[in-house]
Amino acid sequence: MSEDCIFCKIANKQVLSDIVHEDEHVVAIKDINPQTPVHLLIVPKIHIPSMDELRPEHSALLGHIHLVAKSLAEKEGLEDGWRLVINCGPNAKQTVFHLHVHVMGGRPMMGQMA
Ligand code: AMP
Ligand code: ZN
Repeated sequence: MSEDCIFCKIANKQVLSDIVHEDEHVVAIKDINPQTPVHLLIVPKIHIPSMDELRPEHSALLGHIHLVAKSLAEKEGLEDGWRLVINCGPNAKQTVFHLHVHVMGGRPMMGQMA
């Protein structure tokens, strides 16, 4: 838990959010400002500021997040495809410095990548 971190507060239920999945390691919430018809965020319960702080001991967590993403995509009916996005640092326009994975889908993406 990091003081003044919005995603720590969401994971600890100190701030209300629209939770679509929760387990021992993560919560998944609806993005407050969705960019695609389905736009979910998978948020680990531990505070890791960004991919720059990722360490070998986080590898199981990262694997778990990918499996949760697949399960959410199935639940949301994204059979035509979906995208995972992790923004890291200023050039990637990361705005919340608590690692999270965007699960996006529900329409064709507009750009190939960036
Ligand atoms: P990023 O640019 O990767 O750091 O993305 C942060 C995302 O968090 C943005 O898509 C925001 O819309 C989303 N966001 C910020 N605050 C909240 C919140 N309280 N509940 C849900 N999503 C949020
Ligand atoms: Zn945090």
